Amino acid sequence: MEWRRGGVGSEAILRAPKIFGEAPDEILQSLASWVRLAMQRKSPARRIERQALETSLHAWISARHAVDGHTQKLLRGRAARKIDRLDPRGAYHDLDAILAAVNAEYFEGKLEAKITWSARWGGLSTQTMAKDEQGKPYALLTISRGYDHKSASAEIVGGVVYHECLHIAVPPQFRDGRRVVHGREFRQREKEYRFYEAWRKWHAEKLPGIIRRGST
Ligand SMILES: [Zn+2]
Repeated sequence: MEWRRGGVGSEAILRAPKIFGEAPDEILQSLASWVRLAMQRKSPARRIERQALETSLHAWISARHAVDGHTQKLLRGRAARKIDRLDPRGAYHDLDAILAAVNAEYFEGKLEAKITWSARWGGLSTQTMAKDEQGKPYALLTISRGYDHKSASAEIVGGVVYHECLHIAVPPQFRDGRRVVHGREFRQREKEYRFYEAWRKWHAEKLPGIIRRGST
């Protein structure tokens, strides 16, 4: 912490650690008292009062850091387990291979994402952001496990993989305060997929029954 007198009149500028942004009123009041004392002329009584305030402020800061360290450790563990649980190898289709082919053909191999089958049979296909152990964000594509079926070719699975990749390449836009996810550009580019018709047909005619029957 440090303070200095500002330019105008008796104004003072206080620089406090960012962590005080989360401090309860009680601690902020101690901080204000500390500033007031620091700005006044020195006296033995004020010095003692100031030291007492510093002791309680430092105690709060270290307790806060301890909690944060613990929370961070928990989050890192959770992020690592999430990556460990990614399951791209299905019974019929390997999503890593399909993603690599789609990436090479439509995105110059530049698209960065991890991919997994949905944990549940009837799970949806989605594109989300997750964070790795170092807190670095990564795009995660989740493909409905219903696609891991003998009646689906790799080109058909590629259709849904391509669709989810497009959500990264063509992010949602805000128009008139509304979030447009499948806008015009998205729909146009979606049709550039070479097996678009076959994929849509399979998606509409086969997938619902496969999900309903709940087995391969
Ligand atoms: Zn979509």
